[in-house]
Amino acid sequence: MVKVNVKFSVMFRDSVGVTATTVDVAGDTVKDLIDALINQFGPQFGERVLDAKTGGLRRFVNVFFNGKDIRNLQGLDTKLQEGAEVRLIPAVAGGSGFLGFTQDQIVRYSRQIILKEVGGKGQRKLLNSRVLVVGAGGLGSPVSLYLAAAGVNKLGIIDGDKVDLSNLQRQILHSTEDIERPKVESAKETLTKLNPDIEVVTYNERLNPENAATVIKNWDFVVDGSDNFPTKFLVNDACILENVPFSHGGVLRFVGMTTTILPHKGPCYRCLTPEAPPPGMIPTCQEAGVLGAVPGVIGAVQATEALKYLLEAGELLVGRVLFFDAAGMRFEEFELQQNPNCPACGKKPLITGLSKVDYGHVCGVRF
Ligand SMILES: [Zn+2]
Repeated sequence: MVKVNVKFSVMFRDSVGVTATTVDVAGDTVKDLIDALINQFGPQFGERVLDAKTGGLRRFVNVFFNGKDIRNLQGLDTKLQEGAEVRLIPAVAGGSGFLGFTQDQIVRYSRQIILKEVGGKGQRKLLNSRVLVVGAGGLGSPVSLYLAAAGVNKLGIIDGDKVDLSNLQRQILHSTEDIERPKVESAKETLTKLNPDIEVVTYNERLNPENAATVIKNWDFVVDGSDNFPTKFLVNDACILENVPFSHGGVLRFVGMTTTILPHKGPCYRCLTPEAPPPGMIPTCQEAGVLGAVPGVIGAVQATEALKYLLEAGELLVGRVLFFDAAGMRFEEFELQQNPNCPACGKKPLITGLSKVDYGHVCGVRF
């Protein structure tokens, strides 16, 4: 028996669930070495590496012995030499997929698959995830572009507007040639061009109290990129009722704010603002303007939160509101407490159905 050093590539480790980067193993042949690794890392390792039918190496696993592919040597019967270096790496060129990923997917997502917080497992999660983006405007543009690029499998976009020339200063999903087209149609085309790997589901309508529950349920996460208070309250209430986590975001002039809401596991938007200000009190982007890159910053934060939630990575912006002041170029964070009397998520919520809320006015509860 001779002793050799085995090195695992990052992508290989993540996909087979091994944390070690290198191990010393003893044996006479590569087959002995694989058996020793199965002994050490368990039968799951064996399933991932060996073909159950033939007992040979799976086609997407490459074993390099002193820099040479063992397929060009004696395969699993290749004799080991004392001190030799053996490397296990997934196939990244030609042939079959790796853990169900196509070659294109491995390359497309390689810069995030190599992150230890993502890995093959995380990428698989994203490729099985469903996120709804409310609004294909200033916030919805960066949000949906980043989520599509990251490989979020199913992306829903709801917006009833058409592309207007005045949108193009910030709504980077759309181009000049899209003017007068429904925003969801233009969005779908842009996102599918960026990543043909994903499915884009469109709703060419405004979110309203009648359709909100049906549209919002069945998504893993919702990102609110709407531009008006009634929709923001509606997204909050529907997500709390349907128990769907979501990211809230808002922008105006040079400022923006965002927070992440996990229903009943932290404060909601109504804990911060129980009712909307009366119409006319706070201007909209249409009335007061917005610097185009500001929704870019807030939208990128919202997309990051969605990805973190799906990957179960990092610390979410729950119970915290992040304010962005582009003029002073400052981020400020404020703690947000759950309000036990919150009409949406309090101990005795008043909002037990969307029809009970007057979204036309200050989004208060009808009695
Ligand atoms: Zn609340």
